[in-house]
Amino acid sequence: MFVPAFQQKQSDRENALWFIIRDGLLLVKKNCQPATVPRGHQLADILPLCDHLQLLGHLDGQACFAAGLSKDFQPDQAFEFRGLKSLFGRIAEDHLWVAGRANLLVRWSQHHRYCGQCGRPTVDKQDERAKNRNHCGLVNYPRVSPAIIVAVIKGDHILLARSGRFPGGFFSVLAGFVEPGESLEACVKREVFEETGIEVKNIKYFGSQPWPFPDSLMVGFTAAYAGGNIRIDGREIVEADWYSRDNLPNIPPGISIARQLINWFTER
Ligand SMILES: [Zn+2]
Repeated sequence: MFVPAFQQKQSDRENALWFIIRDGLLLVKKNCQPATVPRGHQLADILPLCDHLQLLGHLDGQACFAAGLSKDFQPDQAFEFRGLKSLFGRIAEDHLWVAGRANLLVRWSQHHRYCGQCGRPTVDKQDERAKNRNHCGLVNYPRVSPAIIVAVIKGDHILLARSGRFPGGFFSVLAGFVEPGESLEACVKREVFEETGIEVKNIKYFGSQPWPFPDSLMVGFTAAYAGGNIRIDGREIVEADWYSRDNLPNIPPGISIARQLINWFTER
């Protein structure tokens, strides 16, 4: 179990797991299967080069730290950098989600070296995970961007679409970012209509999943078809159709909430 924490005192850095991020990539030991996150005592040459150090919390009692490295850092023979999404199914799942937290928080720290209000260098607060201790009054918190993801059902068919951003990729349920001032339910209706021309009703909460690549929270819903014919823009969505459980197209892998929604459809 992972317990978040941010106060660094008394944490054993030598034996801690270190989630070191370089431009969205995670430092792991080379040629390990599954991928292996290093401990502090294995990083004597690397830790002095790191910045944006933060305690993330404790995984089964084990301290977990995050740190950043500059884009031009090249690891020696013992380590390599891997994209977080490429590690799906290739690293312990609890390590993947801690790595996601590290990615979000290192990126946040790197992007907030200076205060957006007064321009002075920021300082970490000591009583919460935030920046600008003793500052101009503007406190900066890590950003999480909510997005909806929805399985739209029509009889015994599910609406799946292929995004133009991932040519040749998966067909999946629809997803999109929440607009400022918008409710999650309004976002579901808007995204489905904008992307496919379909109207929905009976919107029900399904579950949620952090998606820290770099900073999303996916909020899952199911919904029923209420009207309309499929109409796609050919850019954001390049293909969309209704699929029955016995003729599903190429769908996303098991770890994502997208796949959990599709599994819910096939198993219901
Ligand atoms: Zn300030």
